[in-house]
Amino acid sequence: MKIDLAVLGRQFELYQEEYEAAALRVLRSGWYVLGPEVEAFEKAFSAYVGRKYCIGVGSGLDALTLSVRALGIGAGDEVIVPANTYIATVLAITANGATPVFVEPDDCFTLDAARIEAAITPKTRAIMVVHLYGQAAQMDAICRIAKAHGLRLVEDCAQSHGAKFGGTMTGAFGDAGCFSFYPTKNLGAFGDAGAVVTDDEELAGTLRMLRNYGSEKKYYNKLVGVNSRLDELQAALLRTKLSHLKELNAERERIAAAYLSGIQNPAIRLPKQRENANHVWHQFVIETEDRDGFQQYLADHDIQTVIHYPIPPHLAECYQYLGCKEGDFPITEHMAKTVLSLPMFNGMKEEEVRYVIETVNGYEKA
Ligand SMILES: *Cc1c(COP(=O)(O)O)cnc(C)c1O
Repeated sequence: MKIDLAVLGRQFELYQEEYEAAALRVLRSGWYVLGPEVEAFEKAFSAYVGRKYCIGVGSGLDALTLSVRALGIGAGDEVIVPANTYIATVLAITANGATPVFVEPDDCFTLDAARIEAAITPKTRAIMVVHLYGQAAQMDAICRIAKAHGLRLVEDCAQSHGAKFGGTMTGAFGDAGCFSFYPTKNLGAFGDAGAVVTDDEELAGTLRMLRNYGSEKKYYNKLVGVNSRLDELQAALLRTKLSHLKELNAERERIAAAYLSGIQNPAIRLPKQRENANHVWHQFVIETEDRDGFQQYLADHDIQTVIHYPIPPHLAECYQYLGCKEGDFPITEHMAKTVLSLPMFNGMKEEEVRYVIETVNGYEKA
């Protein structure tokens, strides 16, 4: 058996007729950017997350970057961010001229609430929390800290569509909840797309202007904006997929349950689940000391895997100017050397899941 990760076609096939009908509807409508389909998706998605407003934008990175900008955070300001995240979270901070202040994760791979306060300075303006791999961070403690210190809270929900903490959806805790709909995400479009959700009317208005050249009224430019609009085709396809997100996440949960009960190998550390939270398994991330050897072993058995992520942002070449060095964030750096994401995708067949489990169980540490 061969397990390849170029499998987005499978989840298209699950609801193919509905996607084709939605796409044709838009093609025949004669209206392609910011129109009735975007409005309908924004309404459906804000209701899904449980927020008043949703602003569709061009990507997850734009959702984050424009949220930071709309909150008035820029040069001279510090933003607390997990050290172990995808680079986009950090890019959203530095693109606005603000300074990222990295904080190590807890044992669920998310921002360690117990380490946040030590990182707060008079310059701190916000906490950027990431619900990494599909599991909510410790939101009760993090919201409490943000409130106690008068900090803004931005959630990076690019990997957590449908994940909850204490019964509340991720994206419904912060000033802004930022989503990516990149095709591989749990709620993925058929191209680039993103959105911000919020309850703050003024913030929503600012974001609506920023995404469209900074204008509320065409050709009357109030803010120095960008072009980051959601298009009708993606919005229509996303609304179709949103109606099936529950089934899609349930399928991921079944695969994760099979891995959690089936994988029994002392060399492999299985992911920990947070109490009072549900995991939507954007990635199923294990840890093992000889990670590169294990990944090669899986490749030798025709199982493709990915490392999320091999280089933490503070050690990325582009961030040398921040002045961080190896050893500054040992927990994060160790994770970058030990994590591996096992195959996890919609449309994964039972025999494929079984093959992964058997192969992982057959691994002997060198
Ligand atoms: C995917 C992702 C983003 C960026 O989303 P794009 O739509 O690719 O711009 C940001 N943060 C995290 C954690 C992500 O996984």
